[in-house]
Amino acid sequence: MEHEDLPALQQAVERNLVRHRSILDIISKLEESDAKVNRAVARAVTMCGCIEIHASKQVFDGDLARSLATVNYHVNGELCEQCREQVETELGRHLYYLSALCNALQVDLGKVIKGELRRLAALGLFTLA
Ligand SMILES: [Zn+2]
Repeated sequence: MEHEDLPALQQAVERNLVRHRSILDIISKLEESDAKVNRAVARAVTMCGCIEIHASKQVFDGDLARSLATVNYHVNGELCEQCREQVETELGRHLYYLSALCNALQVDLGKVIKGELRRLAALGLFTLA
């Protein structure tokens, strides 16, 4: 794989990842980092309290534009500075191992992102995925 074809993060991870370079380490670290993202969100709710989760059934009335305005994330409040920093740190670690997985499999993360953007553009404004 040509390094100049890789996005900057993939290149940096390629140079940085030595100790856990096996794909077995990468996929398990990827999953662990995903769990840590979720844990940071849960801690923001249960330990800090800067955000609260108020969930109820989401109602789609057939008008997708109107539904987009009425459905919500079920999150009240905003992350405080400390929780935002923690969530961002964990997201960064998750992206690190996602990049490492791409490197191990010679997948161009930039190409994946472009493909997803193309898919979303082809779907138009709305998808209920
Ligand atoms: Zn907080």
